[in-house]
Amino acid sequence: MIAYLERFIQESDSESRGEQDVVVPSICQSLDLQGSVDCVSIGFAGKDFGGMYSSKPMAVIRPLGAEDVSRVVKVAFRSGNLAVAARGNGHSINGQAMADHGLVVDMRSTQDSCFKLVTVNGESFVDVWGGALWEDVLLCCVSDFNLAPRSWTDYLGLTVGGTLSNAGVSGQTFRYGPQLSNVSELDVVTGKGEILTCSESENPELFFGALGGLGQFGIITRARVGLQSAPEMVRWIKVVYADFQEFTKDAEWLVTQPEGESFDYVEGFVFVNSYDPVNGWPSVHLESDQVSNHRRLPKTAGSILYCLEVALHYQTTDHSATVDTVANRLLGRLRFIEDMKFQVDVSYVDFLLRVKRTEEEARANGVWDSPHPWLNLFVSQRDIARFDLEVFKRMLKDGVGGPMLVYPLLRSKWDNRTSAVLPEEESEIFYIVALLRFISPDGPSVEQLVSQNQEIIQSCSKMGFDFKLYLPHYKSQEEWKRHFGNRWSGFVDKKATFDPMNILAPGQKIFKRIP
Ligand code: FAD
Repeated sequence: MIAYLERFIQESDSESRGEQDVVVPSICQSLDLQGSVDCVSIGFAGKDFGGMYSSKPMAVIRPLGAEDVSRVVKVAFRSGNLAVAARGNGHSINGQAMADHGLVVDMRSTQDSCFKLVTVNGESFVDVWGGALWEDVLLCCVSDFNLAPRSWTDYLGLTVGGTLSNAGVSGQTFRYGPQLSNVSELDVVTGKGEILTCSESENPELFFGALGGLGQFGIITRARVGLQSAPEMVRWIKVVYADFQEFTKDAEWLVTQPEGESFDYVEGFVFVNSYDPVNGWPSVHLESDQVSNHRRLPKTAGSILYCLEVALHYQTTDHSATVDTVANRLLGRLRFIEDMKFQVDVSYVDFLLRVKRTEEEARANGVWDSPHPWLNLFVSQRDIARFDLEVFKRMLKDGVGGPMLVYPLLRSKWDNRTSAVLPEEESEIFYIVALLRFISPDGPSVEQLVSQNQEIIQSCSKMGFDFKLYLPHYKSQEEWKRHFGNRWSGFVDKKATFDPMNILAPGQKIFKRIP
């Protein structure tokens, strides 16, 4: 087997295409898996949602379980030159789930939708395969157990292993922490091919390393995800602000209230004071017949406005007057522009699947499949007002062709033993900023947008902002060192322990494969 693989590598380097075609099927036959090896239909594994990078893997592995994943990693370990990328749903932006000339493990191929309910010390958890989509976890938990995970991402067409390798952030993060803070146990296939169970008490180095670890220490094959009782309904509300300080003060007030005394979901975004269907007022409306009374806008309102988005959970048996009372009590504390409130009542599942509808529309008009030069940042509370002035109001005053999210998160809800990297200033509140760009045919080119992202990063650095990239992407190890700061040496030590030959997640471009 190894000989075959090595021969393939040499031949792909020498571009002797004719011989490759003969060798590739032999490799496919020789990996003795319960699942399958595909050396033909591999095109999808060389692309991702970002649409800006491409690569050619040697083969795509469709594992049937952790044993298969382990066998693939062991083969790569012995090969001397092969690397292995776990591919979740390929929703990375910069080729993070790719393995050029390497092996891509298609984690989604295991249709192991066996979601097992587990009770530990009276608390409910679900055991899920690392390649399960969050939307399937939601549907299964709600329909089979009347329970649901507590912490989500906005979009659920992402895999459990893919988001746990980063953080998993949404409007529930202020309350329960990122998805990283909501798992109690993992099964991980390390870079040596061992299958290890890990948790806070068992192999804790691997457990915390793998959480937010950008796939560097192992492939997550199982996660034990904490559950709560599933609400049936959600009141989804958006309110508008002209003033950034009032918007952030209210958002910060909501996220610092005790449980039961705030909304269940708090997010916010920046939009353009125009009728543009993507960047402007229509992005605020929750139903197509909603309109806004612009005469209510203060004279001081500029070309950039802010929308606080909140949601309240309830049961169908709750009286609507009770729901009104709770929602209005909280809204009464906020300083949004009078009458600039939009609301709708939807089922809990529909609320969590809200971005799926956006996806359907975007697929229909072709923008889902075009490139997405997205930029995600964590910005310290200290610098968010200056970020607003410099970036939102100046550089992005016409919008980004998609959502520009900005909302507060709480440091204490993140476990600093995980590999996730946050701004350095120790204050409790920091902000996530997500510039979710969609390309329009008559708009700027991808290159121009990528260079605007660079300009934003450079401006933040020049002005001394305390910030970190979320879903980071760098081209040199120097930049990675800077990203991790004083956590770099710990990260390197863990890599040496769990993936000593640098086999895993080569698309992150942090470490080079050791021959
Ligand atoms: P992939 O892109 O397939 O993989 C990402 C990285 O993780 C790769 O390095 C890969 O090798 C590694 N990896 C994949 N599976 C495993 C595994 N089982 N074990 C170990 N490593 C693995 N993020 C948020 O936090 N909040 C959001 O609301 C949010 N919304 C999004 C909406 C859209 C439309 C998109 C495209 C992305 C969004 N993201 C969000 C970002 C998303 O969380 C990350 O891009 C995530 O990595 C994508 O998951 P994936 O399953 O597609 O992973």
